[in-house]
Amino acid sequence: MRVGIGTDVHPIEPGRPCWLLGLLWSDADGCSGHSDGDVAAHALCDALLSAATIGDLGSVFGVDAPQWAGASGLELLRETRRLLRVAGWEVGSASVQVIGNRPRIGPRREEAQQALADVLGASVGVAATTTDGLGLTGRGEGIAAVATALLVPATATPPQDVLRA
Ligand code: MG
Repeated sequence: MRVGIGTDVHPIEPGRPCWLLGLLWSDADGCSGHSDGDVAAHALCDALLSAATIGDLGSVFGVDAPQWAGASGLELLRETRRLLRVAGWEVGSASVQVIGNRPRIGPRREEAQQALADVLGASVGVAATTTDGLGLTGRGEGIAAVATALLVPATATPPQDVLRA
């Protein structure tokens, strides 16, 4: 088995749609960024790629790859899972913690866990915390996320939805 860790931070941009954990949060401002600004999905991608030792978000989906400009967090996770499978790995489980004041994750935790699990084909735990008013997340200037992932060797017969590019 392999483990990986990933983090991400983006600035909040007032008025921008808030995509986080693969869901749209209508009661919060979203993050700016090269894609949809989903820091939780990005942290998970980094954890997964790192565990498989096949790079990171920047090297796999960087600004040199225009086809990923504006990609959703779930699209990046779907492609990450495909790359893992090609490298001989499947997701055993993953966990992500969102750090910020808004949106409030608790009421939609189950929905977020299910959305992420559907894409990764494994259990994904979603948690959230604040920094008690300290730092950029505490001042409401940005949202951060930390993720971990566990990979297991791929089985002989991959699910067809994983290999479809
Ligand atoms: Mg990011």
